[in-house]
Amino acid sequence: MTTPPPLRDMIAEYGLRADKSFGQHFLLDLNLTGKIASLCEDVSDVTLIEVGPGPGGLTRPLLELGPKRMVAIEMDRRFIPALEATGEYYATPFEIIEGDALKVDEAAIIGDGPAIIASNLPYNVGTPLFIKWLKADPVFWRRLVLMFQKEVAERIVAPVGSKSYGRLAILTAAVARARIVLKAPARAFTPPPKVESAVIVVEPLPEGQRFTDLAAVEAVTESAFGQRRKTLRKSLGVAAGRANTSSETLLTAAGIDPGARAETIPPDGFFALAKAWRAARG
Ligand code: SAM
Repeated sequence: MTTPPPLRDMIAEYGLRADKSFGQHFLLDLNLTGKIASLCEDVSDVTLIEVGPGPGGLTRPLLELGPKRMVAIEMDRRFIPALEATGEYYATPFEIIEGDALKVDEAAIIGDGPAIIASNLPYNVGTPLFIKWLKADPVFWRRLVLMFQKEVAERIVAPVGSKSYGRLAILTAAVARARIVLKAPARAFTPPPKVESAVIVVEPLPEGQRFTDLAAVEAVTESAFGQRRKTLRKSLGVAAGRANTSSETLLTAAGIDPGARAETIPPDGFFALAKAWRAARG
């Protein structure tokens, strides 16, 4: 294996410029991309999926880990030739899919065996992609290593009672455990975005411990946190209406004080509420 030319040379050779409409901010710092890749840990038996590889700053250390197989999904076709050329330098079988990661069927790509997803996510699609992976049934990933806008990462790991606590923390807690493992200042990116970033590592809960009706969790949390200053008796009205019942009935069934506010209820309380909502709605 020889090493590919320096990333900046490749970017110049292929004339790759960041395009804001694709949310492009490149990581060119080898130290940082190496650290992010190492968070995948053992990849010897996995299909490693990278979403939005761009010019390949993170792709290189991911390929160096030597996964069983690697698949990169990139929407902007300008990067494909440079990525193909990069793949030639590594022994790992490497496929590139040109397309929208929101529309890709990961289970079909992976086939049998475990998968890990690593990505410096495009900010505009980061949250919907993450929710898509949380909702995947069966859970096809063993670990997610994801760079997010710092505020979004904080919402994902937020404990009950904190100002970032809400729908995203509760959806995550239903099926997984997430932690922030490193923060990256805006200047780590080219061009620098307006916000700071953070990398989270997410691992699925053991199968028997997951609450999998995430559609019901979304219904009750959207309603409850849509008016987070109000009591649940009031704020749950929209979700209760959709299930032809009242907030009081749902809250009583879930053992929650109707006078409480959403941010004081731990994830388990919302799972009980989601169960009551599903029972009422059918
Ligand atoms: N991973 C590269 C890096 O760290 O330097 C690029 C990161 S850049 C923030 C996001 C990348 O995701 C871009 O290459 C962009 O074209 C790609 N992208 C944006 N939306 C996408 C989507 N829906 N599906 C796949 N790739 C997407």
